[in-house]
Amino acid sequence: MTNNTLKAIFSRTSGHCHFCGDRLFFARRGIKKGQPEKGAWEVDHVIQKDKGGKNAAENYLPACVRCNRLRWHRKGRALRELLLLGLIAKKEIKKNTDAGKHFRRLVARRQAANRQRNLKKEPMT
Ligand SMILES: [Zn+2]
Repeated sequence: MTNNTLKAIFSRTSGHCHFCGDRLFFARRGIKKGQPEKGAWEVDHVIQKDKGGKNAAENYLPACVRCNRLRWHRKGRALRELLLLGLIAKKEIKKNTDAGKHFRRLVARRQAANRQRNLKKEPMT
């Protein structure tokens, strides 16, 4: 993919994630060791390849790495289910119910596991 194509894709959302709207930094495309995750982005298929989407600039939008990795291959019904479960979990957490407390612990455990995994990827200095 050429730099001009990447700039065209990036500018389609004025340099913001098409999922969450967070600001992206053009130079932070992809995940690179030692690079902050904030503002890192990837090209995302609007129409996924297995649904007939093409590998063409018109079919791409910029997405922050975090959103793109959470969505992963989910689409349609599976993506809506994920969003619904997220809304339910958020409500339980906000109300501080037993389920909400459990969700909060699960999130903390998941984030700790992700940090450990990312630390293993960091180069030794
Ligand atoms: Zn995002």
